[in-house]
Amino acid sequence: MSIAGLSLPFGSSETTIARGLLNRVWSRDLAMDLGTANTLIYVRGQGIILNEPSVVAVEEATGKPKAVGQEAKKIFGKTSSAIRCVRPMKDGVIADFEMTALMINFMIKQVTKRWTLQKPRIVIGVPSGITQVEKRAVIDAALCSGVREVMLVEEPMAAALGAGLPIDKAMANMIVDIGGGTTEVAILSLNGTVYSQSIRVAGDEMDEAIQRKVRRSFGLQIGIFEAERIKLLLGSALPFGKPRSISVTGREITTGIPRRIELTDEAVREALDEPISAIISSVVTALEQATPEAVHDILNRGIYLAGGGALLKGLDVRLTQETEIQFHRVQDPLSCVVRGVGKICENLREMRELCIA
Ligand code: ADP
Ligand code: MG
Repeated sequence: MSIAGLSLPFGSSETTIARGLLNRVWSRDLAMDLGTANTLIYVRGQGIILNEPSVVAVEEATGKPKAVGQEAKKIFGKTSSAIRCVRPMKDGVIADFEMTALMINFMIKQVTKRWTLQKPRIVIGVPSGITQVEKRAVIDAALCSGVREVMLVEEPMAAALGAGLPIDKAMANMIVDIGGGTTEVAILSLNGTVYSQSIRVAGDEMDEAIQRKVRRSFGLQIGIFEAERIKLLLGSALPFGKPRSISVTGREITTGIPRRIELTDEAVREALDEPISAIISSVVTALEQATPEAVHDILNRGIYLAGGGALLKGLDVRLTQETEIQFHRVQDPLSCVVRGVGKICENLREMRELCIA
């Protein structure tokens, strides 16, 4: 066998070297942020090449995927019984194994469809503190997609790497990643996790709080993605400027008849107060658990805010006001984790020790 003019006979000690070289040249390893709301894939040497909602639709009769990602999100809640459309991840972990495996499989194949020479390795970001069973489920789902090796890294570690925090230094770095299903609060130092806590209150809970508010105040039932749309358009953690409102369509609970209402930013803020308070409490708990030395570093450097939830208008300011510690929103919070996992994927030999499995 010959690589770029090199003769490398099999069966010799050079075989191992040859395989290593082959892997580097032909195996385009992958990094994945398998999120409750969005799944992103990074390809070594290329960057982020897939960014899709974690939604999948399958044909009930054949079990074949009908749509994945954005296309599936568009038809969510509008399909006949012949098509099952679900969000297979819940609270940061796999809720429906088969559907997750199908989704991962589809996405990985989409990225690797023209690669024939070598199966890729993959590094996947997972919530901190997931159980062995949950880890196994992620690994098995990825192995079904034809990758040859799966490594897992805790999301707060990946988010901190993605944000460019100096986690290798003897210095406490605090990061809060507000995703769809979970908010991860972590303190990292010397390439390790000093403290981590994952609460199941994040973007989805904000959407559900809006659904509850519309139901209680107006007797109207709205879909979960409609609630998300309201959050994106009107949601905020603090009042800003003139009052605003948007029109919202739902189904009246008592009569079942569709009705349109005007929803104000104030009503949405009231709905969001409970999930935001839960996030603030988890930050305060982390600070209470931290050593005085760590708190000193955190006070000096501030706390970094990542994940899609970090984009909620005024959340950084509200958190700063309530904790009296400066919060910094990281650059592009939605891709922070995958950029961090991507860094590990680019430097696997040196950074592999950051992986947990
Ligand atoms: P995950 O990692 O769990 O997939 P993401 O980090 O992708 O989650 O964040 C998705 C969450 O962020 C969703 O709940 C989404 O509604 C929310 N989100 C995205 N953009 C905004 C925004 N501008 N304001 C408020 N929430 C947002
Ligand atoms: Mg995430």
